[in-house]
Amino acid sequence: MSFRVPEGKNAPINRRRLIGGLGAGCLGLMTGPAIICRAAAQARRWTADPFSLGVAAGAPRPDGFVLWTRLAPDPLSANPATPGGMTGGDVPVAYEIAGDEAMRDIVRRGVAEAEAAYAWSVHADVSGLQPGRPYWYRFLCGDAASRVGRVMTAPAAGAPVERIRFGFVSCANYEHGYFAAYRHLADENPDLVLFLGDYLYEYVEENRPTVRRHSDGIEAATLPTYRNRYAQYRLDADLQRLHAQATALVTWDDHEVANDYADRWSQFNDDPDLFLRRRAAAYQAFYEHMPVRPILSRPDGPVMRIYDRFTFGDLLEISMIDGRQYRSRPACYAPPDRLRGHLESDAGCAERRDEGRSMLGLAQESWLGLGLAHSKAKWNVIAQDVLMAQLRQKMPSGDFGFWTDDWDGFPANRRRLLQRIVQTRVSNPVVIGGDIHAFFANDLRVDFDDPKSPVVATELVGTSISSAGPPYDLVAAVLPDNPHVRFFESRKRGYVSVDVDAEQMTARLRALSDVADPKASVSTLKTFVVENGRPGVADA
Ligand code: FE
Ligand code: CA
Repeated sequence: MSFRVPEGKNAPINRRRLIGGLGAGCLGLMTGPAIICRAAAQARRWTADPFSLGVAAGAPRPDGFVLWTRLAPDPLSANPATPGGMTGGDVPVAYEIAGDEAMRDIVRRGVAEAEAAYAWSVHADVSGLQPGRPYWYRFLCGDAASRVGRVMTAPAAGAPVERIRFGFVSCANYEHGYFAAYRHLADENPDLVLFLGDYLYEYVEENRPTVRRHSDGIEAATLPTYRNRYAQYRLDADLQRLHAQATALVTWDDHEVANDYADRWSQFNDDPDLFLRRRAAAYQAFYEHMPVRPILSRPDGPVMRIYDRFTFGDLLEISMIDGRQYRSRPACYAPPDRLRGHLESDAGCAERRDEGRSMLGLAQESWLGLGLAHSKAKWNVIAQDVLMAQLRQKMPSGDFGFWTDDWDGFPANRRRLLQRIVQTRVSNPVVIGGDIHAFFANDLRVDFDDPKSPVVATELVGTSISSAGPPYDLVAAVLPDNPHVRFFESRKRGYVSVDVDAEQMTARLRALSDVADPKASVSTLKTFVVENGRPGVADA
């Protein structure tokens, strides 16, 4: 359904000529594609911009990537029968890929379906391109053209790579502030942006002051309401710009579905079947709005695979982890008040330490372990949703309590993973995460209770894009019981910008001046370095 244009024969052309030419080019192919392309050639006249939600690109491989858009001329349509203001069947959407930002040197034209069953989203899985270079792209449909986006292919496996810059972000509550942090990250022109979860929030804030509101005023719990939540976030100019600028790797945390859920167990009801129906709706909406590979991630009811691995030459391998879908039941899950994350001591809850419990699930655990064992990359990033380091806190009883919703709820899985890191001798393992709305820089030890246990990996946690942080004094008070925590700050919103080369990984913790100010400035709060061959946090 796509064809390569011979290089050097691409004079700038206007859109109407392009689409006419596209139809003619496709007519020579077999019947199926010809029908699609003839339909694409029909001039569809839009009364509102169908590309209101912008564009995105992701899943980079040495020969391609996924290009995303969604037709939504009425993006917040309240009518569940007409998501985004669309009706009817699938709509063919043309795309162009160019070697230059001005879109003069077109190297590929193709047609992809905006699928009615998936809210007229497009996931164009493009291959056959050159490794390790940027491309620019846009979509065309009838008399409408999208903005131009930038995307990169991964360098070829094993190819020498000098440097990569990526940003990582999490926890963007629309109601808690503006997304200026996304804009500042886009300004840094990273090769990649890693979304580590809580891309949106399903609930409506009732307990804190808000800066702006989820426009429908209701908690997302159905396919139409999740869709509209994504649409509202994607209408944000700063988020839209970041997606147009940087190739995205994505995973999720809980708020893409519901607070603190684990597999089929939720905070709000005891009926797993009921919750799985909600999860299916939420996962489908995630699929409809993310540049993920359809062959891997197209949802099957409540099941959707998003964990994936991306390799960038000889320098960097990133494992994107799903920390929610395959979890064991939360430790000491019990109504009415232990259905969500909560503190448990060993005296009050022996189950937490059960060897059989897993955060990642058996299949993903072994997939990750094998990936670490086989990696030839100098730096190996495990990108996931929640804090991995132990963060124990004294309870009124005098016992230590552990939060059951993050890795402290799954200590056996955490120890298996860290032991695996040791056994595989994987080069320079670095764990990154979000969820806790605070910056952390941590040394990871196989046994956190033994200060003589060697540091085997480094953890960097980004603060939230906008979501309100935990009380600084309360967390700071428990740090003396957690000496592996080298840095903590919850009073700032922002992101982490990372530069990787053969000698070191440099992480700049970037902090916004004011999340309530759409024009907020950004500054570097602190810079940490991880040195090649030396696990743990070092000051820059
Ligand atoms: Fe969050
Ligand atoms: Ca979370």
